[in-house]
Amino acid sequence: MKTYDVVIIGGGAAGLSAAQYSARANLSTLVLEREAGGGQCNLISELENYPGFPEPIDGSEFAERFEEQAKRFGATIEFGDVEAIVRTDDRYLIRTDEEEIAADAVILATGARHRHIGVPGEEEFSGRGVSYCATCDGPMFGGKRMLVVGGGDAAFDEARFLSNLSDDIVLVHRREGFRAQAALIERARKDPHIEIRTNTVVEEILGAENEMGIEAVSRVRLRRVDTDEVYTEDFGAVFVFVGSIPQTDLVDFVDRDENGYVITDSLMQSSSPGLYAVGDVRTSPFRQLVVAAADGAIAAHAAGEYIAERRSIPDAVTV
Ligand code: NAP
Repeated sequence: MKTYDVVIIGGGAAGLSAAQYSARANLSTLVLEREAGGGQCNLISELENYPGFPEPIDGSEFAERFEEQAKRFGATIEFGDVEAIVRTDDRYLIRTDEEEIAADAVILATGARHRHIGVPGEEEFSGRGVSYCATCDGPMFGGKRMLVVGGGDAAFDEARFLSNLSDDIVLVHRREGFRAQAALIERARKDPHIEIRTNTVVEEILGAENEMGIEAVSRVRLRRVDTDEVYTEDFGAVFVFVGSIPQTDLVDFVDRDENGYVITDSLMQSSSPGLYAVGDVRTSPFRQLVVAAADGAIAAHAAGEYIAERRSIPDAVTV
C-alpha cells in the first residue's frame, strides 16, 4: 500500500498551498484531485485582490503557478476520486476508486459546490443557458441579454466579467442589502452594461428552440418580493451565483457547524486528531483565496508537528 506522511484531498488554493508547505518541510506529500487542479481559482476571470499581484491575473494561470510551486518542492499530485477516509488506530486510510493509501495526517481541502436556486427550469436548462461559471460559459452568450442571480462577491465579480461580453446584464438579488464587498458593488453600479435590481427573485426559467434547433433558455419569470409583481423578460442565459455547499461527505465523523462546514481550531485541526480542514470546506470568517492559502500553510505546519510528536513517542498510536 502506498504510504505518505500527509495526504491532501483537493487541489484548489488551500490544498496546493498545504502541499507546498508540507513538501517543503520534508514530509512525503500526496495531493489527490478529482478534476483539473485549481478549484474555484479557475472560475475567476481577473483575480485582482491577491496580495503581491498588483496587476489582475487570470485565475487558471494563478492556479497553475500554485501547482508548479507545490511540485517544485516535491509534492506528488495525482488524479483520484476519493470514496472514503477511514480512521484506524494509528493512521488514516484513503480509499480511492482505484487503490487504498495510508497517511499519518490528512488535510481536507475539498471546497464547496455551487448552490442552486431550485426553481423550475434550472435543472432542465443547466448547460443550455443556465450556468454556474461565467468564465467557462459566458463567451457562448456574447452579445445576448444575460441574467445574473445573487448578491455576494461572486455575483458581482462575474457580472463584471459578463459585461465585457454583452452590454445588457441584469443582476437580481433577493433583498435590499448585498453581501458583496463595497468595491465590487460600486464598480457594478458604475458599469453602464449592468442593471441591478434588488428585492427580486427568479420564479421560473423558460426555454424555446434557439437558432441551432436546441431547447435553451429564452425567458425568465421574475418576482418583486416587496410588491409581489410578477413579470417575464427575455434572457439568453442565466448565471447563478448564490453561494456554495461544503463538500464534507467524506468526513461525517468530524464536527460540523449548522451549515455543514467543518469546525476547526486555529491550527485547522478538526475534531479528529491528524485530520485538518482548509479553505471553503471549513468554518471561516472570510472565504477568500488568500485565506484559503493561509489555511493550507497553517494546516501543513500543524500536521508536521503532529507527526513529529507522534514519532517521538513510540507508543503514541491513538488517532
Ligand atoms: P456568498 O457570499 O455566500 O453569497 C451568496 C449570495 O447568494 C447572497 O447574496 C445570498 O443572499 C444569495 N442567495 C443564497 N441563496 C439564495 C437563493 N436560494 N436564492 C437567491 N439568492 C440566494 O457566496 P459567493 O458570492 O459565492 O461567495 C463565496 C465566497 O467566495 C465569499 O466568501 C466571497 O467573498 C468569495 N469570493 C470572493 C471573490 C473576490 O474577492 N473577488 C469572488 C468570488 C467569491 P443573502 O445575502 O440574502 O443571503
